[in-house]
Amino acid sequence: MKKRPIGILIALAMALFSIWQVYQLSKSMVLSSLRETGEARLNLYAGTVQGALEKYSYLPFLLAKNHNIQHILQGNGDSKQVNRYLTVVNKQAGSAALFIMNSAGVTLCSSNWHEDLSFVGKNYGFRPYFKDAMEGVASGFFAIGVTTSRPGYFFSAPIYNFAGNTVIGVAVVKIDLTPLEKSWLEGGEMVLVGDKNGILFLSSLSQYKYKSLEPLASETIVTIKEEKQYHGITIQPLGFKKSQLFADDVISLSGATYLLSSRKLPEFQWRIYYLASLTEARKLIFGTVTIAAVTLFLILLLTLYLRERRLKRISNRRASHAKKLSKINKRLQLEIKEHSRTEKELRETQQEVIQAGKLAALGQMSAVISHELNQPIAAIRTYAASCRKFFEKDKKQMVLQNLDIISDLTEHMGSITSQLKSFARKSDGEFEPVNLQDRINRVQFMLENQIRPAGVMVNLELCETPITVLADPVKIDQVLINLIRNAIDSMANSTKKQLTIVLINKETNAELHISDSGHGIDPESMRQLFEPFFTTKGAGEGLGLGLSISFRIINEIGGTIRATENEYGGATFIVCLPQHLSNREPTK
Ligand code: ADP
Repeated sequence: MKKRPIGILIALAMALFSIWQVYQLSKSMVLSSLRETGEARLNLYAGTVQGALEKYSYLPFLLAKNHNIQHILQGNGDSKQVNRYLTVVNKQAGSAALFIMNSAGVTLCSSNWHEDLSFVGKNYGFRPYFKDAMEGVASGFFAIGVTTSRPGYFFSAPIYNFAGNTVIGVAVVKIDLTPLEKSWLEGGEMVLVGDKNGILFLSSLSQYKYKSLEPLASETIVTIKEEKQYHGITIQPLGFKKSQLFADDVISLSGATYLLSSRKLPEFQWRIYYLASLTEARKLIFGTVTIAAVTLFLILLLTLYLRERRLKRISNRRASHAKKLSKINKRLQLEIKEHSRTEKELRETQQEVIQAGKLAALGQMSAVISHELNQPIAAIRTYAASCRKFFEKDKKQMVLQNLDIISDLTEHMGSITSQLKSFARKSDGEFEPVNLQDRINRVQFMLENQIRPAGVMVNLELCETPITVLADPVKIDQVLINLIRNAIDSMANSTKKQLTIVLINKETNAELHISDSGHGIDPESMRQLFEPFFTTKGAGEGLGLGLSISFRIINEIGGTIRATENEYGGATFIVCLPQHLSNREPTK
């Protein structure tokens, strides 16, 4: 969620950058196209200006060669005839005026001799074109006429005497350039021509005429005054500004912006300027940028919309997952409730079963006890009765014999009850380290009077490392005695009677294998082997408590006991006990 505003800001920054790029690109494209157009127009208009002037440049030379004119200058000609001639030629050529000046600068003849503003008798000796021609150099000059106040371009040529060695006068043609301005204006173009001082003397727009591009130097102003070039006009600066922001060649003039192109007109020491309005170009750039901005905005909007939709879809999916999860949760809770209810029922049932089991065991035990004790009690009763008879008959020997039998029977009963006592008794928890090898040897010795008469061969394979367990040594003996006695019993009818006792050191545990070659254990018996009072032995031979007592003892010291069938068809009892390792390094 925190990522969102940063992402939007980055997208906005990228959008703004792209819009800026579009602006720059479209601006440079539009400007370069305008520059190309400006170049082409300038070439065209420069040619027009040159053409318009040069078509008259021959006229002063033509006049300078005219004999009548030469005569006039030498004081012997007919000025009326020359005046008329000039009028005709001027009209034919289409120039503004044709006139002849003497060496003092006074106009002797002129095409406008008959007009109010005739040049005849006027002195134009201050004009540079006159001075140049008197030096023998044909010249040209733009100026505002001091007589007519009409601007025009003056071409002059020196007039030599007949000998051709002295300049005696000057022939001049004045050309009207206003048609050029008119044609530019009609073409809707902004064309300006400036002189060597940067004064604009030709302009399609009259408001820019006779304005200087840069403020004029004072000496320039003096010269202009002397030559009366812009007679009666004070030259003011144009007052345009260069737009640094847009491009170097972009100017602002009278509140409008233009691209300014210019080129030299070297023949006249002039410069021609072409102003292309940027109003349309600006509209084009603005339009392009607007389209780009709108497109980007729409893309941004679309992206945001798609993003929102994706997020909504994800959140919907999450919501439906959450819904499903809560459903599953509810179902699980129900199941847990159901399970705990079932568990409670089970526990109750189990308690009932245990109770029933206990009662069954009690019943079984009482049956066994009554069965085992009834027989000796009945015998004792019989022997006691015969004792009385033998005593009455004074057969003391028989009495003593019967009392011995009664004593044996009570001893037998005592052994039965002692077994039951040991079954019922719980461990007092007094454990001590017991060496298993010692206990096995001891028990074997104890049982020697049972093993030997039964004809059983004993094979002991006890590991050399002393094996110690934490237990009650008497109880360990009890387990060993039970297992060995059962093994001897199982081999009663076997031809081969082999008892093997193996003690294996298994790192933290010790494993005791007691194997016999007896009748083995059938699968049905295998299941009940360790249950109390389970026995396959006949009455008076077994109570069925040996294995169940052994199982409990082994369990108490953290061990296990199980029985399997062995390779001789007999049984192997495997007892696994945790070793007491505190006194020595664990055996590797
Ligand atoms: P008891 O020896 O008084 O019958 P136990 O609990 O010691 O009681 O043994 C239960 C029964 O397990 C025996 O009656 C016998 O059927 C079987 N059993 C025990 N040890 C062996 C053995 N080594 N081989 C075959 N059967 C055995």
